[in-house]
Amino acid sequence: MLDLTTKDVLERKALRVNPCKTCQPAGAMFAALGVHSCMPHSHGSQGCCSYHRTVLSRHFKEPAIASSSSFTEGASVFGGRSNLNTAVKNIFDMYAPDVIAVHTTCLSETIGDDLTSYITDLDLPEGKHVVHCNTPSYVGSHINGFSNMMMGFMNYLTRKSGALNGKTAIFPGWVNPGDIRELKRIAALMGVPATFFPDQSGVLDAPMTGTYAYYPEGGTTLDEIRGLGDSSGLIALGEIIGLAPAEMMKKKWKVPYALLPLPVGVAYTDNYLIALRNAATGEDNIRPPVPPELEAERGRLVDLMLDSGQYTYQKKAAIFGDPDVVIGLTSLCLEIGMIPRYVITGTPKEDFTRKIEALFAKYGMEGCTAKANADLFDLHQWIKNEPVDLLIGSSYGKQIARAEDIPFVRAGFPVLDRYGGPLLPIVGYGGGMHLIEKITGALMDRYDRDCADEDFEVVM
Ligand code: SF4
Repeated sequence: MLDLTTKDVLERKALRVNPCKTCQPAGAMFAALGVHSCMPHSHGSQGCCSYHRTVLSRHFKEPAIASSSSFTEGASVFGGRSNLNTAVKNIFDMYAPDVIAVHTTCLSETIGDDLTSYITDLDLPEGKHVVHCNTPSYVGSHINGFSNMMMGFMNYLTRKSGALNGKTAIFPGWVNPGDIRELKRIAALMGVPATFFPDQSGVLDAPMTGTYAYYPEGGTTLDEIRGLGDSSGLIALGEIIGLAPAEMMKKKWKVPYALLPLPVGVAYTDNYLIALRNAATGEDNIRPPVPPELEAERGRLVDLMLDSGQYTYQKKAAIFGDPDVVIGLTSLCLEIGMIPRYVITGTPKEDFTRKIEALFAKYGMEGCTAKANADLFDLHQWIKNEPVDLLIGSSYGKQIARAEDIPFVRAGFPVLDRYGGPLLPIVGYGGGMHLIEKITGALMDRYDRDCADEDFEVVM
């Protein structure tokens, strides 16, 4: 039995308690939903598919469609080729997508199903496609699954025509539809024609029309994915999730890339604008100016930071979640004078720890802890030993927030127990304002709850 009262937090290597991640296929399914007229397909048993659909549907409050190879004992022993053949025929007959995006699961990986040969041998209807990626869930996390599915699409579909298409490819990483809309708006204001891949806006935030559609208007089209190899450049957002797909674009199609942190907060949004400016630089080598609209938004964000700084300065935060979102949130917290005392991700990626420690060093933070491949049990024990003023992360932090009576700001994935989050951006200057409103509001609510009656005034 673990002694939960101990001050020493034991180092665990093989055991995760309340993991701060989910499994690879969930990421593959989410990436595939960002492709127009695509049916994500889980090559394994029905339980895996149901779980991944459930977590996505509960976060986005939208149906996350997907199909399954429905393994039973026979397929588990003899392989899933015939299950896949039957599934592909049924899916094209009944649901008529343009593409089926197959990902593996622990079971199909363990028995060694060879998806490449199964798919090569398929007799597909004219104009229809099947792509795949491997997503063994006993390594990595949903973040790896997302990258792997992007590369699966690129592997099967991208082509080089010999002429550039005048577009910049933008990989937005694992963000909400509201974030993608904001990233697109900024790119349009900067005058950069872009292909966003994948693009869940218009799919997982599709408007209510009264008529259900399996394949809503949104999503990157197959033609756009084919054309990625002809892009004049690539901006990959999210240094952890974007690296492998960006490297693939460079190696396969010689597309140069800029790999940036997710544009959360002032500095990282500035980086995004600089990359867009570089992309918009014409043959005359003149970089276009930043539009006044974006300059004004930046100014409003800085003004908000100054106004609210008295409530955030030197407040300690614990931040957890997906690596790129957490890196962005940590940078924003440092910009508003907070101390990010504990910063963790469940994704096993040591690069994350190095990047967070570089942020600590940049802002002169000492005594803060960063850890990849961590879990919420670790975080809870650390907080018991040294409390924080604010917890920022997914819904899975609510038990810690309640047990330790800490104000809690929900951000990242998944947020299962609140509504509207996927519609609102955390990226860009506007997203920064949204986050600061939430952070300051949570801290001030706590002040209002605990302060003496004579200090409880309407005007602060
Ligand atoms: S069996 Fe593997 S793929 Fe399926 S839900 Fe569990 S961890 Fe995920």
